[in-house]
Amino acid sequence: MGEFQLIEKYFNRNVSVHNCSNIELGIGDDCALLNVAPDCSLAVSTDTFLEGTHFFKGTSPYAIGYKSLAVNISDLAAMGADPLGFTLALTLPDDNESFVAEFADGLFDIADRFKIPLIGGDTTKGPLSVTITVFGNVRKGHAIKRASARIGDAVCVSGLLGGAAYGVALRYGKESSDSHDAKEKAFKLLDYPNPRMDLVPFFHRYNVHSALDISDGFMGDLGHILDCSGVSCKIELCDFPVSDVLMHLSRQKQLDYALNGGDDYELCFTLAEDDYNEWIEASEKGLAPIIYRVGSINSNSSCESEQAKARGIIFAEHGNQINPQTLRHSFSHF
Ligand code: ADP
Ligand code: MG
Repeated sequence: MGEFQLIEKYFNRNVSVHNCSNIELGIGDDCALLNVAPDCSLAVSTDTFLEGTHFFKGTSPYAIGYKSLAVNISDLAAMGADPLGFTLALTLPDDNESFVAEFADGLFDIADRFKIPLIGGDTTKGPLSVTITVFGNVRKGHAIKRASARIGDAVCVSGLLGGAAYGVALRYGKESSDSHDAKEKAFKLLDYPNPRMDLVPFFHRYNVHSALDISDGFMGDLGHILDCSGVSCKIELCDFPVSDVLMHLSRQKQLDYALNGGDDYELCFTLAEDDYNEWIEASEKGLAPIIYRVGSINSNSSCESEQAKARGIIFAEHGNQINPQTLRHSFSHF
């Protein structure tokens, strides 16, 4: 099957489905045409997926299609943007129609769920690679940047962490589990991350100051917010939201996965204490998503030790600061 038939049969399918008023022109011309409202900014993000680097050889084509779009939608959510459309640059090693069919099924399952149309792309031959660029809409001045955390903010995450990283460890054979259910759940968390677009309206309602999605691990990603905002943070480890697939592991390992493991695609964000309290009140009534508070933003000067200062993160248990020396012994990655 030639390139154009392939595109026509598998990829030219959802612009009309979603009746997108912002898309003046989708697939088929030299460019797609997007109309952005005058009071909005266009949010743009790209991610590339390579076999062997970003997904295991042998991952199902359905999962590859699903995840490569999911992680891009997650970037839009982390910016407080609504999805407008996406492009797909697909490099395929051979003319394997069944791969493309399954890949397109995964891709459009999530595209349709988030009502985001495929508006263009490129198809080439070479080692398997998927590059997706997403476009989103956010009201001018309302994009949620990494650099805007404020002293006194509550630091929150949108879900339990560490499950996807445990899935990676299981796939590499670094962990083994007797529980079939826990294994399947960990693989599901790894292969089918859920972009937290549901949080976007609440980010705007509760005036979230800064946000990002947790792709490389909570510690490293939170570090970006702290660096960009010029602040530090105290993290309370007592009730740290650890994925339930980790419950059979030692607390040390649980925290190691939850703090350092990547691929969860939950959102980490900061907001004023009062707004946090209002969000919690609403979520207790079932009127807002459940969130987990993990700490508070402090001024940079509140890190006493040089080590904590360099990292910008202080750890506490039951409110009491933990000696970094103790921590280093406790968690292998520190
Ligand atoms: P050009 O030669 O102008 O780059 P192409 O022949 O690459 O155009 O693509 C023709 C049309 O098909 C364009 O509108 C392009 O955006 C679209 N397209 C190509 N590959 C893909 C793909 N993998 N997914 C979606 N649209 C695609
Ligand atoms: Mg082209």
